[in-house]
Amino acid sequence: MPTNQTIIIGSGMAGLHAGALLQAEGVQVTLLEAAAEWGGCAGKFQRGKFRFPVGATLGIGFEDNGIHRRVLNYLGADLSVISLQQAMTVRIGGEDFPYFTNREQFLAMWAEKEPETFPQIAAFFDEAWQIASALRKYMSHYAVLFPRTAYEWQALFNGFNIRSLKLAPYINKTMKTLVDKHGLADTDSFIHFINGTLLDSMQTTYEHVHLLLGATALNVYHEGAYYVEGGLYRLAEELVESIKINGGTVKKPSRVVAVARGNERRWSVKDHRGRHWEADNVVFNTGINNAADLLPSAHRDKLSKKFIRHSVPEKQWGAATMYAAVKEDVIPPDAALFYQVLVDPAQPAEEENHFFVSLSAHKDLKRAPEGFRTITVSSHIRIENWQSQYAYDDKKAKFIAAVKRELETLFPGFNQAAVHFESGGPVAWERFVLRKSGTVGGLPQTRENALWNAVSHREIGSGLWLCGDTVYPGAGTIGAASSGVHVARSISGKKIL
Ligand SMILES: Cc1cc2nc3c(=O)[nH]c(=O)nc-3n(C[C@H](O)[C@H](O)[C@H](O)COP(=O)(O)OP(=O)(O)OC[C@H]3O[C@@H](n4cnc5c(N)ncnc54)[C@H](O)[C@@H]3O)c2cc1C
Repeated sequence: MPTNQTIIIGSGMAGLHAGALLQAEGVQVTLLEAAAEWGGCAGKFQRGKFRFPVGATLGIGFEDNGIHRRVLNYLGADLSVISLQQAMTVRIGGEDFPYFTNREQFLAMWAEKEPETFPQIAAFFDEAWQIASALRKYMSHYAVLFPRTAYEWQALFNGFNIRSLKLAPYINKTMKTLVDKHGLADTDSFIHFINGTLLDSMQTTYEHVHLLLGATALNVYHEGAYYVEGGLYRLAEELVESIKINGGTVKKPSRVVAVARGNERRWSVKDHRGRHWEADNVVFNTGINNAADLLPSAHRDKLSKKFIRHSVPEKQWGAATMYAAVKEDVIPPDAALFYQVLVDPAQPAEEENHFFVSLSAHKDLKRAPEGFRTITVSSHIRIENWQSQYAYDDKKAKFIAAVKRELETLFPGFNQAAVHFESGGPVAWERFVLRKSGTVGGLPQTRENALWNAVSHREIGSGLWLCGDTVYPGAGTIGAASSGVHVARSISGKKIL
């Protein structure tokens, strides 16, 4: 029997990155997924001839030094992606702001939109991008906070250089410091623009987001934004394939219901069908809220205050989603593939007032047959407002009506040309990807939650590990994937990437 056996609970981006790297390093991996699909929030579902991404749609981390690309290269796997010149169109109160990936084009857009405050806007982005660039070196070594092993210290030191010292003044600030410094708090379009980006990636707005992470979010699309033919589930499938090719085991549906002490201080994992596995290490890619429920009581009673504080569902957002298939002739040929829409700038960017709209590309036959396109729309919602049956139905109906209105505005004739509609709220997220209370996207990256205040992948100890977007460094597919790398390093004892 191999000495190091690892069970991974969940096939989200974090669990899959961890599993594929571990199996490639010779650790015997068994990955158990409760759902019928791989990929969790970055997975897909099929309705007749149409295929829909459930949540994540916009690819990041596929540039040469990006985490997904590096892991794919390391595994000898490939996934062709389409690099976007325009990450998305941001529509604020009916006015379009193209989010160019090229920095000069992006600044030229701002020069045209806000000529009076443009010098401040340019100075703001210049400073934010410089912060992000200094931090990117640190991030590209996948350093953990706080390091314990020799290679973790090495990753931390390798990530630092003389430019890192420039980060010192920003270390405990929010993005508000930078906005105020450049006198931009009253430039409404700019504030709505950055808030939309920060909310989607950091789950909070400029007043609250940790400055270092906010700067990273405002830089990320300039490193590269990508459309993945079919959807991001194809990355999940590549990673599953890699685990299998290298001799690992993957099972779905297999919902883990308990983790207990097994023989010889190993761990015993039981799924909903009563099947058992034993392993030296167990990795929870379940979200920290769910992980606590699966632990043996001796461990549950000893969870850190930080873990408990972060597990409160109310600290996280929920999502409302709508999936539509439409005849292609109503989509203008020059339509963007991604839109972020703030309907009424005077209202909060959530619920039926703020949407992320993703279209399948023309002739992406993995998502829709010739002559059709599929569309996924999502919105941040406050879980606490969706609690009673009445509130749920009311909120959902308002969301659907608002999305249909907005899609009709974006693509005149949409409602006539639509051939399939369906929607989901927190109950769907809890049912299909087991996110407790339907919370998704990870914790808001505030000073209280982020970096050294985040839950670490080794928070539980004793061969039990955590990964995913509720764990350091959090946030989106690239944050989740990074936590997977941390787990793979800790279990294998190797630097790997
Ligand atoms: C609507 C929406 C849109 C988004 N858009 C983007 C985007 O465009 N780009 C981007 O980069 N990110 C986006 N994100 C964020 C991104 O999808 C997530 O942060 C990331 O995919 C989360 O990965 P994860 O590893 O934390 O796990 P999850 O995706 O949560 O997956 C966890 C998996 O574990 C399984 N599981 C849970 N409990 C058990 C159990 N007991 N037994 C077995 N299996 C279990 C679940 O079924 C699930 O498959 C979006 C998120 C949402 C919700």
